Amino acid sequence: MNIIMFGPPGAGKGTQSEYIQSQYTIKMLSTGDMLRAEVASESQLGLKLKSILAAGELVSDDIIIELIANCISEPECQKGFILDGFPRTVAQAEALDNMLQHMGRQIDHVFSLEVDQGALLDRIKKRAAETGGARDDDNEETLRNRLEVYDKQTAPILPYYEEKGVLRQIDGMQAIEEVTNQIDGYLKEKAA
Ligand code: AMP
Repeated sequence: MNIIMFGPPGAGKGTQSEYIQSQYTIKMLSTGDMLRAEVASESQLGLKLKSILAAGELVSDDIIIELIANCISEPECQKGFILDGFPRTVAQAEALDNMLQHMGRQIDHVFSLEVDQGALLDRIKKRAAETGGARDDDNEETLRNRLEVYDKQTAPILPYYEEKGVLRQIDGMQAIEEVTNQIDGYLKEKAA
């Protein structure tokens, strides 16, 4: 089962992806986590990425596509994967399709967590408090830019998956457990 978790920053993609990973034997791949690990390593690439992440801009498609291509071909992704934060551009979505086609695989579900963008600032502030400000981009100014980038570059991917018949829109303003139940319903339906 191959899944994409979709939604703006703070929509709950990470929380729901972790749940699916723990309940089903499929691997969660968070491009944001991978990039933050690269930044923390203080490598040459990490130093370049740091300012891009802090500004809430997107890292170049080439870097991200190579990162994901390496991950999904790993044995731990054989039973499936959950993509958290990828694809974020139409070019990334097309590259993913190409990779999967070559592997004889496909995307089964795109869970789009629909949220009221006005509520996201509160969620991001809460996350910043809970993590002790671990992320450079969990602040009001960067969030505004991340939402703009999401609307301009990432949201246009949705019709692509809608056409393929794999888009599941979910009200992300519900309680976490409600969102989880809905996702479970879709996954069990497919498995039945
Ligand atoms: P996230 O943790 O998914 O919110 O990602 C944090 C940041 O990492 C984003 O604001 C981007 O700067 C970068 N990033 C994560 N995933 C991608 C991607 N698929 N394409 C480009 N940049 C990304």
